[in-house]
Amino acid sequence: MPKPNDLEQKALQIIMNAGNEGLLQSELWRKLGASSREGSRIALKLESKGLIRRERELRDGRWTYRLYPKRLPASIDSIADCPCMMCPDSPRCGPSGNITPQDCGKLSEWLFRIAESTYNILGDS
Ligand code: SF4
Repeated sequence: MPKPNDLEQKALQIIMNAGNEGLLQSELWRKLGASSREGSRIALKLESKGLIRRERELRDGRWTYRLYPKRLPASIDSIADCPCMMCPDSPRCGPSGNITPQDCGKLSEWLFRIAESTYNILGDS
């Protein structure tokens, strides 16, 4: 029989794999092979640790919860358009050189664009 921590780890992995869509609490305990009581306990524990968030959802006339990961692993897509990836100055760029990321306009501009789009997304929700 798996230890409670093993189940929590497995549950967190399942929830993270669900990504931004999240998954219903009932789907979680089905995938875990756990009882509804055990599944609820695990979801509450993960929420109290700040690892997931639960949102109430009406499903087939009954209230349940949809579970979302609070953090998702970073993907390579998130830095694919970073100017450093194709920068000719990259070999000479460093914190103590003549060319530094701290003084780079291209990098600052890219970071501001990301910050702005993140702000717009969060502002919409
Ligand atoms: S910080 Fe600027 S100069 Fe340095 S590698 Fe990135 S884009 Fe090039």
